[in-house]
Amino acid sequence: MPSKGSKRCGYILPGGRGRCKKLVPDGKHIYCEYHQAIDLQRFRERSDRAPGKMYSTAKWKRLRGAHLAMQPLCEVCGKAGQVVDHIEPHRGAADLFFDSENLMTLCKPHHDAITQIEIKLRGKGANGKQIAQYKKQWVESNGNSRQSASFGSRAKAGRS
Ligand SMILES: [Zn+2]
Ligand SMILES: [Zn+2]
Repeated sequence: MPSKGSKRCGYILPGGRGRCKKLVPDGKHIYCEYHQAIDLQRFRERSDRAPGKMYSTAKWKRLRGAHLAMQPLCEVCGKAGQVVDHIEPHRGAADLFFDSENLMTLCKPHHDAITQIEIKLRGKGANGKQIAQYKKQWVESNGNSRQSASFGSRAKAGRS
């Protein structure tokens, strides 16, 4: 039987088919697991590509350039980095978006891989901090040892 906090997924189905009525058991989420994942993916696509938004600001370009100068290689595989990723998902929050400590360099394949992980975690109800923690662990366990020490120890980067 549905628990007290449960409710129906309110996702609006395409093609005028009304709303998804799947039961969301814990009542904590607006959408069922499936639609939550879709919603997050849509959100990310919007925020990653939206022109004229934070990604196109001079502030971000400076920050991104500075990060790539310091960490030009993918923090997982050590190949040339192509994407500066936000460790804790910013979801449009400027404080997380422009936090230089919240960035990591990834190659395209590893950025894609970590994005999929993020979507799955979000679907399970993980919050931003939990996702950040998981991503750091994932990078450390998949990365080579030379790169894996870089988190939170920027001061060491200058030493050799
Ligand atoms: Zn649904
Ligand atoms: Zn890589």
